[in-house]
Amino acid sequence: MAHNVIAEAKRCLNCKKPLCRTGCPINTDIPGFISAFLRGDIDEAGRILFDNNPLSAVCALVCNHEKQCQGHCIKGIKSSPVEISTIEYFISERYLDNLRLTREPENGKKVAVIGSGPAGITISITLARLGYDVTVFESKADIGGVLRYGIPEFRLPKSLIDRYKTLMLRLGIKFRFNITIGKAFGVEELFRDGFKAISIGTGVSWPVTLNIKGETLGHVHYGIHFLAHPESYRAQMGNSMIIIGAGNVAMDVARTALRMGVKDVKITVRSDRFTASNEEKEYAEIEGAEFMFNKAPVEITDEGVWFKDTECDENHKVSRRSEKATHKRADGQMIRVSQKPSNMILTQTEGLEINSRGLAMINETGETTRAGVFASGDVVKGAKTVVEAVEQSKKVAMAMHEYIQSLS
Ligand SMILES: Cc1cc2nc3c(=O)[nH]c(=O)nc-3n(C[C@H](O)[C@H](O)[C@H](O)COP(=O)(O)OP(=O)(O)OC[C@H]3O[C@@H](n4cnc5c(N)ncnc54)[C@H](O)[C@@H]3O)c2cc1C
Repeated sequence: MAHNVIAEAKRCLNCKKPLCRTGCPINTDIPGFISAFLRGDIDEAGRILFDNNPLSAVCALVCNHEKQCQGHCIKGIKSSPVEISTIEYFISERYLDNLRLTREPENGKKVAVIGSGPAGITISITLARLGYDVTVFESKADIGGVLRYGIPEFRLPKSLIDRYKTLMLRLGIKFRFNITIGKAFGVEELFRDGFKAISIGTGVSWPVTLNIKGETLGHVHYGIHFLAHPESYRAQMGNSMIIIGAGNVAMDVARTALRMGVKDVKITVRSDRFTASNEEKEYAEIEGAEFMFNKAPVEITDEGVWFKDTECDENHKVSRRSEKATHKRADGQMIRVSQKPSNMILTQTEGLEINSRGLAMINETGETTRAGVFASGDVVKGAKTVVEAVEQSKKVAMAMHEYIQSLS
């Protein structure tokens, strides 16, 4: 561990108006859990964290702390902020194996949770603890969504996700893997079989395409596909790679490729700045990635990419592109500009409306336009963050609970 956790916790001023808490999207009681920890009640600290955010151990590793809790810590004004994430991880990781979750008596009511990413995990744990009979339906062979099939191992160990699965099994949650709802069967069949309410947390797993010539060539790949199964790409990686797009996912692509032995990795972006966090950008840089700004891709060839140079306005929007294009050579290309929902379930469920971005439309409680069907996470908000998916899913789980109670 990079920091002495106890010494770091002792730096917390236990502020009356904790700005760290305001900076946290899920309003974690940071002074509360640090105080419990310092008085030796680690289990209580773990309980505070888990009850507020079941994915606290994950968020401690992957949240953008520099913008959220730590970025708001008062200590950061004159010196370095308290490393809240390090303390949170120490407590939450330990608590995962020690936790004694309270659970209401089984009520025999069935709930279907579609998708097992952060949204589905949060909803299923919350409803199982309220006594529901929860079944999770998942397209892939295991739980986690992007946590397992996206964020690289060096940032988030898969073993941590395995421990969530164990915890969920202990809560009596059932899993149906390798089944895509909307293909084998849909919402109608779930209601037919007695599920009282359904949650959709199917994320945004389709890459947004560039729609330029050459995008279908054999050495061109989408970043999110690569990150889901990097080993499948190893044999054809080559020595050089151009990455188109410069958000956090592009940084993960670059670092994974560099760690797999690609020597020359260039991350290119149309505008004059990156959307990735400073931390992720710095890691990519120190691991060897090179950055190229103001490069708009216009065509991909077998040998590389043609780019036009751009100029940007004061809002960093591209205002001008050069007439002439220049060619950058590379063995392979990875495209990562954005993601959208892939889901037939959204388009094929009767009565379920989607917006112009293809995302599920919900009311203030998280219910879709189809009664009894709720949605949360990226499938509602577009590509966001783990903590945002958890925060919203907690509320949606409670709305599902109220909905089911109102039926009887
Ligand atoms: C590479 C990458 C790195 C990221 N890094 C970070 C980070 O460091 N920090 C951070 O906060 N956020 C990060 N994010 C964003 C974050 O992971 C997402 O916001 C979050 O996972 C959204 O959770 P979700 O449950 O809505 O969707 P997902 O995690 O996408 O899970 C959706 C699940 O639904 C399943 N599914 C889809 N359709 C069906 C169907 N029809 N039937 C059954 N199952 C289905 C999928 O297989 C998947 O398991 C990253 C995203 C990516 C792609």
